[in-house]
Amino acid sequence: MLAKDGGTPLKSKDFPKWPVYDEREIQNMISVITSQNWWRVTGSRVKEFEEKFAGFQGCSYCLGVTNGTSALELALEVLGIGSGDEVIIPAMTFISTGLAVVNCNAVPVLADIDKDTLCMLPEAFEAAITPRTKAVIPVHMAGHACRMDSICEIADKYNIKVIEDAAHGHGGEYNYKRLGSYGDFSIFSFQNGKLMTCGEGGALLTNNKEYYEKAYLIQDVGRPSGDKIYEHVIRGNNYRMNEFQAAILLAQMERVDEYNRRREQNAIILDKLLEPVKGIEPQKKEHENNIITHYMYMFYYDSTFFGGLSRNDFVEYLNAEGIPCCVCFPVLSDTEFFKRNDFNGRNVSYQKEGEAKLIYAKRAAEQVVWLHHRTLEGDSEDLQDIAAAILKIQDAFHK
Ligand SMILES: *Cc1c(COP(=O)(O)O)cnc(C)c1O
Repeated sequence: MLAKDGGTPLKSKDFPKWPVYDEREIQNMISVITSQNWWRVTGSRVKEFEEKFAGFQGCSYCLGVTNGTSALELALEVLGIGSGDEVIIPAMTFISTGLAVVNCNAVPVLADIDKDTLCMLPEAFEAAITPRTKAVIPVHMAGHACRMDSICEIADKYNIKVIEDAAHGHGGEYNYKRLGSYGDFSIFSFQNGKLMTCGEGGALLTNNKEYYEKAYLIQDVGRPSGDKIYEHVIRGNNYRMNEFQAAILLAQMERVDEYNRRREQNAIILDKLLEPVKGIEPQKKEHENNIITHYMYMFYYDSTFFGGLSRNDFVEYLNAEGIPCCVCFPVLSDTEFFKRNDFNGRNVSYQKEGEAKLIYAKRAAEQVVWLHHRTLEGDSEDLQDIAAAILKIQDAFHK
């Protein structure tokens, strides 16, 4: 019997836990506590982390901040994006990508995604450009890169700034260059589930010194570094990362490459195990992605091969069997918040007369399921259990 209906869960031994830690996190944390320098103003850990993480992602400058959402807002603020401006984002992403645009009083314009990779389509980005477009925020979905060569080329042609949302992409590479090093800016998140975490945290990266300096001022209430006389030279905010966050992240960074390799190997094995399963189609990989981080293992679920069992019910059944999973992000314009907000009467979703709107994003939002990345961090038995749990549900429903 299925676990959700009172049977025994298929998975008896749980997947590895997340987040992971060892003596390094503990020792780094103790050293901050006992140093009695708990904020970046008097401490050295945030600065050390910023230098190391910038190098790790192949960028010149990194600014540690409170979280990924504020890193996105900071990038938009540095670029002076505000009222009257449009920013193009993929239609299917986590809400923060759109929220940051809205919080800067600009209009998020949604572009469709590729049905195989679930990343924003360069053609859809180009088609959504208007004279008001100031920036584009490609999202490297689950760590699979957007086609950054095309996106940067189009952005250049129309003089549009590129902010990479690399919240899923720590240590990932596209064409042997790290994610986050392609755009004018990139952002990372260190929220509890992300591939490097300190519970909550974020980073803003750039290769542009002027952008970095302006971002520094804004994140520290408009105060120049080292200021002692309350000199507030521009309007700012407080987005400062603290020393505890940096202490944990310094330890976490040492594990990222090894974990990325493990997930990549296991994702390849899981792809093979799921190949014969009808109605399950994993996110596809484009060969330019030489390191995929697999922040999530995403796949299309076709209910017709599961006796009509809905995607949302399937997710409940699979969770009950002991496989941690979730439904895909919604198309942002389908959320209550976006539906209520008309953004001063302007369209949020790009629409050409007679052309179907955001078809692939809508299909993904309705049909895709994702597995937590810790499902890819265990052994081969763990992978076989994932396939077996899916088959157990299929056997029970498919007539
Ligand atoms: C997690 C996430 C963010 C936001 O990061 P927070 O640190 O949670 O604010 C932004 N974009 C995407 C795609 C994310 O998944």
